[in-house]
Amino acid sequence: MAADALLRAGRAVVDGRETAVAVRIREGVITALEAYDAPADGATVVELADDEVLLPGLVDTHVHVNEPGRTEWEGFASATRAAAAGGVTTIVDMPLNSIPPTTTLTALEQKQDAARDQVWVDTGFWGGAVPDNLDDLAPLHEAGVFGFKCFLLDSGVEEFPELDAAGFQAAMTETARLGALMIVHAEDADEIEPCAHGSSYAAFLESRPDAAEERAIGLVVGTAASTGGRAHVVHLSASGAVPVLRNARAAGIDVTVETCPHYLHFDAETIPDGATELKCCPPIRGAVNRDALWAALVNGDIDFVVSDHSPCTAELKRRESGDFADAWGGIASLQLGLSVVWTTARDRGLALTDVARWMATAPARRVGLHGKGEIAVGADADLCVFAPEESFVVDVARMHHKNPVSAYAGRTLTGTVRQTWLRGGPIDLDAAPRGRLLRRA
Ligand SMILES: [Zn+2]
Repeated sequence: MAADALLRAGRAVVDGRETAVAVRIREGVITALEAYDAPADGATVVELADDEVLLPGLVDTHVHVNEPGRTEWEGFASATRAAAAGGVTTIVDMPLNSIPPTTTLTALEQKQDAARDQVWVDTGFWGGAVPDNLDDLAPLHEAGVFGFKCFLLDSGVEEFPELDAAGFQAAMTETARLGALMIVHAEDADEIEPCAHGSSYAAFLESRPDAAEERAIGLVVGTAASTGGRAHVVHLSASGAVPVLRNARAAGIDVTVETCPHYLHFDAETIPDGATELKCCPPIRGAVNRDALWAALVNGDIDFVVSDHSPCTAELKRRESGDFADAWGGIASLQLGLSVVWTTARDRGLALTDVARWMATAPARRVGLHGKGEIAVGADADLCVFAPEESFVVDVARMHHKNPVSAYAGRTLTGTVRQTWLRGGPIDLDAAPRGRLLRRA
């Protein structure tokens, strides 16, 4: 039987290094990695341009799709179109901000029904751990969620309440029994002041200090240790918490951590007052903190980078008043994450191999997305054709996110996604969606 395609790339990220390669693809799967000039052998040959690099399709395990229930904020079709345009070939949807939240088997099925035949990229689901749903975790796990998300303080939506320390201990005891990953929004309410009304970014930042993250991450580490469970800290902003995590890992505690493009790109000193498009929780901190996050990423203390794509309507961002207390906290960046991270990584002398590890390989491995996040024999032929030296100005009118709000609007970024391949073929946003709904294997 003839091979389907042979993709020749003068530069590709394979097994942690950059190399010339010919990727042989049959029925959507990579069947061989051959020399660049290997014979076609009946396959359709596709050659990348000289200024393009072949990356594994990105894996974004932190996406709030919000459908059903808050579909005016985002939806499966718009989110996955944005993902495809941004080189992302797999997303895992967060359990909250949709209504109902994904805290029961019925709610998961409702979400899967909403997503079916609507997704341009492969889509998996997180379950939610909230008070009083301990008995729902096992059925959700059986149904193939990739793990469970919980909050240690007010989530911002009333239908997804937080766990107290005892509830967190009980939930992690159950996830440990199941072998499931528990992912945690780690901020401690006792360290947080109510945000005063007004447009001062400094006042907003001051209301959510580093100590809130450091103390909550201490609880995560302690609970992972006492239950033997697997934990993951989402969207780390405070670099001061890195030593706690490093020490926990050195002690054999199974805990990992992610950060997000906005924490690596922006700094508090240059955020103007009233810039509510940059409100997120935990907040973007100062430039010294940002440098420390980069250092932690480079030395492996931070495991990966995912978007925390958390959109809302333009109205809810309250840009007119610029009031940080009223504005929804969340930054939508699914389509831009790769360019944002690469722009800054490149300035810091880092390589595309690093970016591919942080944004594809490492998240896929941690959450158990087998056959995703790498250019390897046996993996799905999910690929990103990236032009790393081509710059562009972010124009919200060209974004596929449902709402034309972007913290990056008008900024110049370096690195353009030219094409995204899903299971052996380029994604065509004018054709029918080909994404699949994924279950944990
Ligand atoms: Zn989130």
